[in-house]
Amino acid sequence: MPELPEVQALVADLGSRLIGRRIARVDVTAFSALKTYDPPTTAFTGAKFTEVTRHGKFLDLMALGAATEDKPLHLIIHLARAGWIRWRENSPTPGAGRGKGPLAARLVLDDGSGFDITEAGTKKSLAVYVVRDPQDVPGIARLGPDPLEPKFTLDALAGILKRAGRSQIKGVLRNQGTIAGIGNAYSDEILHVAKMSPFKAADMPPDDVSTLYDAMQSTLRDAVARADGVAASELKAEKKSGLRVHGRNGLPCPVCGDTVRQVIFSDSTFQYCPTCQTGGKPLADRVLSRLLK
Ligand SMILES: [Zn+2]
Repeated sequence: MPELPEVQALVADLGSRLIGRRIARVDVTAFSALKTYDPPTTAFTGAKFTEVTRHGKFLDLMALGAATEDKPLHLIIHLARAGWIRWRENSPTPGAGRGKGPLAARLVLDDGSGFDITEAGTKKSLAVYVVRDPQDVPGIARLGPDPLEPKFTLDALAGILKRAGRSQIKGVLRNQGTIAGIGNAYSDEILHVAKMSPFKAADMPPDDVSTLYDAMQSTLRDAVARADGVAASELKAEKKSGLRVHGRNGLPCPVCGDTVRQVIFSDSTFQYCPTCQTGGKPLADRVLSRLLK
């Protein structure tokens, strides 16, 4: 799943390709992916892209034109777990991909180039919205602060963690309503850099808050810097190559050489290094411990 650094890189990549370009059409082929019906996708026809930005993990492509009544219209895309964007240099073959394959939506510019939005897997959770105001998207309206915004200070994080109380830090970092943009992968990475257990209580001593803040800033900023200038097609490989514990169960920790371990939940798994993060103690498997109670 793309998280803040990858979505930020998509913003840069798509921005350089789309801003100033005119839209021929937007086709949504996976109807369940389109979460809004008014304005219709045809309102983009003939409009020009003016801005590409993001809100947490949501991509926001803004366009302006006669069909949008000269008011900004936003194409908002949430790629979810298995969604991706593929740039196309040439016109799509008519009918190709329709009703088969993982194509969810397609945007065509007036010269025939554009991008395809695809979603792999059987569980479909990719979402596309057409709105006049990004705040009309419920997932955006409830987003917490963005960790790379200037107002996300050490004090801001301290307040968030105090309010989260006894909640486990792993879940707090991933909660989009608390902090925007961090998912399963970068929460693993941040906690590894901070040398903290994923199950540590969020309300922690000031020194620990400071350590976590620095780990969050350095991990995200490093990932953004690495992904900058990388084309969308290369981003997944780039993300994977930069990870130290996430998705590396059974492999050596790059810091201490201990074996990276994982905890399995019913719907996700996460990875950590026992020596770096839990005083050498393996964490209990949550699925198993629940069954044995
Ligand atoms: Zn380690």
